[in-house]
Amino acid sequence: MNAEHSRPGVVVVGGGHAGMQAAESLRTEGYEGPVTVVVDDPHPPYQRPPLSKDYLGGSHAAPLPLRGPRFAAEHRIHLRTGVSATGIDRQRRTVHLDTGEEVPYTHLVLATGAANRRLTCPGAELDGVHGLRTLADAQRLNAELAAARRVVVVGAGFIGLEFAAGARARGLAVTVLEFAPRPMGRAVSPVTGDWFAQAHIASGVDLRLGEGIDRCEGTGRVEAVVSTTGDRYPADLVVVGIGVAPNTALAGDAGLEVDNGVVVDASLRTSDPAVLAVGDCASFPSVHAGVRSRLESVQNATDQARHAARTILGRSADYTDLPWFWSQQGPWKLQIAGLYRAGDHTVARGDPTAGKFSVYCFRDRALVAVESVNRPADHMTARKLINGQVPLTPAQAADPALDLRAVAHAATIAA
Ligand code: FAD
Ligand code: NAP
Repeated sequence: MNAEHSRPGVVVVGGGHAGMQAAESLRTEGYEGPVTVVVDDPHPPYQRPPLSKDYLGGSHAAPLPLRGPRFAAEHRIHLRTGVSATGIDRQRRTVHLDTGEEVPYTHLVLATGAANRRLTCPGAELDGVHGLRTLADAQRLNAELAAARRVVVVGAGFIGLEFAAGARARGLAVTVLEFAPRPMGRAVSPVTGDWFAQAHIASGVDLRLGEGIDRCEGTGRVEAVVSTTGDRYPADLVVVGIGVAPNTALAGDAGLEVDNGVVVDASLRTSDPAVLAVGDCASFPSVHAGVRSRLESVQNATDQARHAARTILGRSADYTDLPWFWSQQGPWKLQIAGLYRAGDHTVARGDPTAGKFSVYCFRDRALVAVESVNRPADHMTARKLINGQVPLTPAQAADPALDLRAVAHAATIAA
């Protein structure tokens, strides 16, 4: 450890989208003290989204870095890759590393992210059964994709469908098993979920809804998947995308409150005000969901990290940024502004049969979320409409003659 970084400063655990943004924002907000980022992944920090999209199949030879090669030096950030934080001593305000070092802090930012849920069924340990979270996972998958012919994907969430679309584009036979009655059930309205189900089926994906995995069969390497209905699907590759669990062990062991994530207040402080948590690992009071939530997206990770940096510098305010997401599934770009909740009233705009439409979601007469498929302009307008709390009726949203961009613009000027 160099001399500057042996002084107490800000220590960030995790070098993903949240951790790296927190470090950068501390500098751009004017923090001059030591900043240390500790990340257990051995690779220089990289972007995760391409791992289930362009990176698969090798159209990108290298992963997309999160920051340029000179970023850490230029911002005086002590970046420790391949190093784990193993404990927090909150009394002494130090973080223990697996190198045996202790790093002192004035503030600690937990940006530990999440880890994939693992299959626990018989045969889950067979060769050829893969999760997808890290660059190492994607490299392993890429190495096997070249020889694969028949893939079974477990889970029709974002990972499963993005992977399935890519595998179909490579000409592989793809079966997707999903417990729920429709894909992406946690994230999108039934209209959008059903549309994606039909789109993937039309592209040749064998989508099995209401069907989970019972076991993987094979000798050494996977040869087939047997589902909960007893059906048997031959497979030489199995990709598991059944969701994540937040990495909370470090916080829990240190006596911080944990409840489906590290519990933080609206300014992103944990139950210890010297410790903050951001990104996939943080459970925060969400004004948009109306309940305590944990979001898993790049927007949430980066915006919370910016916010946490300001909190550390004494410019604390409630975190209220509008959640937004995207997913690229083959030719279909899904963009979501806001948070859909079961029971919201939905209306469609555009042409679902042409694969270009948006679904407007209303709760208590207010627009709360918009899901857009291949309509990027709708998405940008939706963010303005929701952020500005612009009054809009379902009939207006569905009316193709009404220029919503102009409505949003007029409301912005009036405000
Ligand atoms: P992470 O990215 O998980 O980073 C946390 C880091 O901290 C990890 O490297 C972890 O190993 C490390 N760490 C944990 N504990 C310790 C410890 N004790 N010591 C040291 N290091 C530790 N979101 C979108 O919005 N759009 C997309 O298209 C999209 N695509 C995705 C595709 C894939 C394949 C995946 C896996 C995710 C995708 N996401 C997407 C989700 C998005 O990547 C995550 O929400 C985001 O990465 C969360 O950032 P984070 O920094 O909170 O956590
Ligand atoms: P996810 O979006 O939570 O989807 C997992 C899906 O698998 C859910 O529909 C889940 O149903 C289902 N499932 C769970 N157990 C199953 C089983 N045994 N058999 C069949 N289906 C099962 O998670 P993910 O797709 O694995 O993605 C992992 C993480 O990466 C998430 O944080 C996600 O947000 C992120 N990611 C995001 C993007 C994006 O935003 N574009 C892209 C890729 C990855 P239940 O909900 O009923 O459990």
